[in-house]
Amino acid sequence: MKRKLRMAMVGGGLTSFIGPVHRKAIGIDGEIELVAGAFSIIPEESTATGEALYLDPSRVYLTYPEMFEKESKMPADKRVDFVSVVTPNHVHFGPSKMALENGFHVIVEKPIAFSLEEAQTLKKLVDQTGLVLALTHTYTGYPMVKEARHMVRSGVLGKIRKVYVEYPQGWLSKPLEKSGNMQASWRTDPKQSGMGGAIGDIGTHAANLAEYITDNKITEVCALLNTVVEGRRLDDDCSMLVRFDNGASGVLIATQVAAGDENNLNIRVYGEKGGLEWKQEEPNTLVVKWLDKPKEIMRAGWTYLSDDAKRFIRTPAGHPEGYLEAFANIYRGFTQAIRDYKPGVKTDYAKYDFPDVEDGVHGMTFVETVVRSAQSNEKWVKIN
Ligand code: NAD
Repeated sequence: MKRKLRMAMVGGGLTSFIGPVHRKAIGIDGEIELVAGAFSIIPEESTATGEALYLDPSRVYLTYPEMFEKESKMPADKRVDFVSVVTPNHVHFGPSKMALENGFHVIVEKPIAFSLEEAQTLKKLVDQTGLVLALTHTYTGYPMVKEARHMVRSGVLGKIRKVYVEYPQGWLSKPLEKSGNMQASWRTDPKQSGMGGAIGDIGTHAANLAEYITDNKITEVCALLNTVVEGRRLDDDCSMLVRFDNGASGVLIATQVAAGDENNLNIRVYGEKGGLEWKQEEPNTLVVKWLDKPKEIMRAGWTYLSDDAKRFIRTPAGHPEGYLEAFANIYRGFTQAIRDYKPGVKTDYAKYDFPDVEDGVHGMTFVETVVRSAQSNEKWVKIN
């Protein structure tokens, strides 16, 4: 396929947060062009977004069902190849399902769906159709996170024993949802966010990051979910003990009421012979600590990094890469998987290194288990 891939977007209106981030990210490698979209729940905003992006007005739709109906009838040399779903959580399932049913690949924001049941339905559809589905757990797209995973996999740290992962944000320290803030409103509404508040919004990122780096799954949790801001309907603060399938234990914290914090996602992982430390707000540095020799500071852009990390770096050392590039890295793997896609042949997701439908189902299982654990008197609740 010697051409740019054609993308449609659901969500991502002019006033939204993450849709514009995706649009910038796809521009980084120049492999994708946005040609269609149903950009907003507000029809006028969808039209205005299409205009601002100079799209053909006949491919700017007022609703996503209309978009699928019309795009699926387009000739093969015009029709979109995939759909990017960047709507609030309760509108992930509908467009993703419709995309798969109409033969389009999908890249969808996290958490993959509103409920575990929806996530499982999407998995069934991916299995049946063989179409490619990527999930934008952004933080696994950072090169030094990939280096951290490479080091764990290579065995230099020995068996992993302990994990600390924390994702403190402060932006929901006040009841912003009451003053009409769009991002706060749906995130704190159980009908739009799902059964988890902070746990679904950022706890899933923390869990996914810990599982990605350690190459182990969280199997049990002992969780505390708090609603700190008065009148809020979902949790805005979570703390938990976790156990991983290799026997390692850990602590996971995700809170949106850490006043003054931005996106202070940090992880520390310790094995028998040494440990790793990565901070999202300083993403080009990976600190490696050893039991019997001095600490090392590894930096993005250097030749000493593994190919697992190097292939996702675009600029020389010292020129910061970050959030947009992490999204671009997920799109890079996804794009390659679509280019390699052959109907009837199962995609080998490990080859491309991006979060997929299995991660999505596991993430929803994680959210539901944490909520159950927080409501239970049992010490440990299993994820299954
Ligand atoms: P937002 O409220 O800023 O934007 C949502 C957009 O979806 C709006 O343009 C809205 O009009 C549109 N929309 C809603 N219903 C629609 C429908 N039926 N049809 C078409 N458009 C519709 O939300 P946001 O903060 O951008 O979050 C969107 C998603 O991205 C969420 O699932 C969130 O969890 C996820 N997210 C992920 C990251 C990340 O780092 N990966 C960061 C932020 C948000």
